[in-house]
Amino acid sequence: MKLLEERIRKDGVVKEGNILKVDSFLNHQMDVALFNAMGEEWKRLFADRPINKILTIEASGIAIAAIVAQHFNVPVVFAKKAQSVNLDGEMYTTKIESFTHKRTYDVIVSKKFLSSEDHILVIDDFLANGCAVDGLIDLIQSAGATVEGVGIAIEKGFQTGGKVLRDKGIRVESLAIIESMDASTGEIVFREQ
Ligand code: 5GP
Repeated sequence: MKLLEERIRKDGVVKEGNILKVDSFLNHQMDVALFNAMGEEWKRLFADRPINKILTIEASGIAIAAIVAQHFNVPVVFAKKAQSVNLDGEMYTTKIESFTHKRTYDVIVSKKFLSSEDHILVIDDFLANGCAVDGLIDLIQSAGATVEGVGIAIEKGFQTGGKVLRDKGIRVESLAIIESMDASTGEIVFREQ
């Protein structure tokens, strides 16, 4: 998606440790018009899929998913990072290792909001090693629901997450895929798609 690539080039900051900062339009200050254009694009890409719900994870995924959901006219559920898991059987739970915070979270979704009837589109801001998306897919599979696809704003194509998901047959639509980036020069190279 050219609009997103141009924005990353203009306002993205490449940090040491393979981190791209996009605080000025995605992760802190948010460009809602851009999120809206992203929603339009995912709706076009997933037009053939019977999506009835969007699943994301707090915090950064929520705002994107909420704007995107208006194009699908479906509810958004966000997985919550829990301090401790209450094992009363009311929640689906999984563990996710955070790429940016280098720690592991218990992540939960109430059984009320995911069922075997659901056809889910997973939305997140970044795809790096794939831990966040893997955890969300684990929750969906625990509920017996169907993964219709994964929509990612920015995939770091030099990390393994995207390839592993696609090799499993999961449809991943990343709106910008970074082939390489260099913290010393700030250069970002996108994959042609
Ligand atoms: P993964 O679980 O695929 O390794 O990493 C994805 C998660 O880590 C995303 O939900 C995102 O919040 C965070 N993340 C990974 N890489 C980056 C990055 O380069 N920049 C930012 N801002 N977040 C990242």
